[in-house]
Amino acid sequence: MKVKLDKNLCVGCGLCEENLPEVFRTGDYTAELKKDELPDDMKTKIEEIIEDCPADAISISETSAES
Ligand code: SF4
Repeated sequence: MKVKLDKNLCVGCGLCEENLPEVFRTGDYTAELKKDELPDDMKTKIEEIIEDCPADAISISETSAES
């Protein structure tokens, strides 16, 4: 599962970092991803954060392609 962050939408509220600091970090104006490839067992947690993000800046995509 890949997580994406649209910095053009992010308002830098810091909520995602507060909820999941191992994945998100709040930079000067927007959040940043510390990592974008996440294990599937984090999906529920990420979905909660997507719900909570006031800017709808976070999304996930399933990665079915094996590399
Ligand atoms: S919760 Fe959304 S708007 Fe807030 S810092 Fe994270 S990505 Fe940006």
